[in-house]
Amino acid sequence: MQQIFNFSAGPATLPKPVLERAQAELLNWNGLGTSVMEVSHRGKPFIACAEKAEADLRQLMQIPANYKVLFLQGGGRGQFFSVPMNLAGRGDLSQHLVTGQWSQIAVTEAEKYMKTEIVAKTQTANGKLFVPKQTDWELNTKAAYFHYCTNETVDGIEIDWVPNCPDVPIVADMSSNIMSQVIDVSKFGIIYAGAQKNIGPSGLAVVIIREDLLGFARKDTPAVFDYQQQVNNDSMYNTPPTFSWYLAGLVFEWLLEQGGIGEIEKVNAEKARLLYSTIDNSDFYRNQIANENRSKMNVTFQMANSNLDSLFLQQSAEQGLQALKGHRFVGGMRASIYNAMPLEGVKALVEFMKEFERVNG
Ligand code: PMP
Repeated sequence: MQQIFNFSAGPATLPKPVLERAQAELLNWNGLGTSVMEVSHRGKPFIACAEKAEADLRQLMQIPANYKVLFLQGGGRGQFFSVPMNLAGRGDLSQHLVTGQWSQIAVTEAEKYMKTEIVAKTQTANGKLFVPKQTDWELNTKAAYFHYCTNETVDGIEIDWVPNCPDVPIVADMSSNIMSQVIDVSKFGIIYAGAQKNIGPSGLAVVIIREDLLGFARKDTPAVFDYQQQVNNDSMYNTPPTFSWYLAGLVFEWLLEQGGIGEIEKVNAEKARLLYSTIDNSDFYRNQIANENRSKMNVTFQMANSNLDSLFLQQSAEQGLQALKGHRFVGGMRASIYNAMPLEGVKALVEFMKEFERVNG
């Protein structure tokens, strides 16, 4: 079979060894003679599996003891309303940095529950999009929380420094770059991520929350989305997405086998370097993001001649380089190169890009 490299933005490629293990265990998980999907979430085998996944995630991300970890349903968007609903008791204002599509939608959802303020938006200088420095924002110490998205999946914009706002908890949407680089969890109030990029199957959300932020939910918060309720019930107030949780656990084990996040971060840096240098060394391709904000997970690029887009997509797909079409809001191409994308996949893409330029440039 032809080697396939899947550059989908999400649901995205998963590590092959993880899929092989899931396949091998599918019909007889843990010697039980059934699949993991068919056993009670309250039984000992599943609880052990769930606890191991959490312990491995804690180890990978070095999550301090005063943080709770939740495995919830509703994906990334589920958190866009869960965050304001759960923090409303801290105040009626949230502040937001808007750097692209996802952080903007987080504002739209928060507006349903509290006042919102945008401290800054991405700007353009010399034809490149960039995130304004924190010295140009107006942070309000009375805000219930400050929200931003560490990696804008659609736009290909990443922020690899953490804002400094000691009086206000920082809430970060890390859906598309969680576990891709070492971060200091203690700088955040809440970290959340939809699973379908670096964690596992879609539908699941991982929420990491500092304990002192629990207990501020609006009274009308649905119980399944109430962080405190879910903490009290080890994320099993309702029946959790057991298969997704199990698969996330396999991904965490795989990451540990790779040497942890510090090691995968090096591979991610090399993958991004290869792609951006190919783009920068040509007049045929271009990227519109300022260097310091270029995403290491979602590399967006356009061709000077956009009439070639469909030929590029057709020929790349024929060579097993799948799902390179950019988001419809941005156009052009997007190569999503999450943790599970091997370096050889990026090398194959770069070779294809150079050859495509040679023939069509
Ligand atoms: N935030 C970010 C950064 C995302 O990339 C996405 C999905 N691509 C979401 C939130 C929404 O996630 P979901 O589709 O799981 O609701």
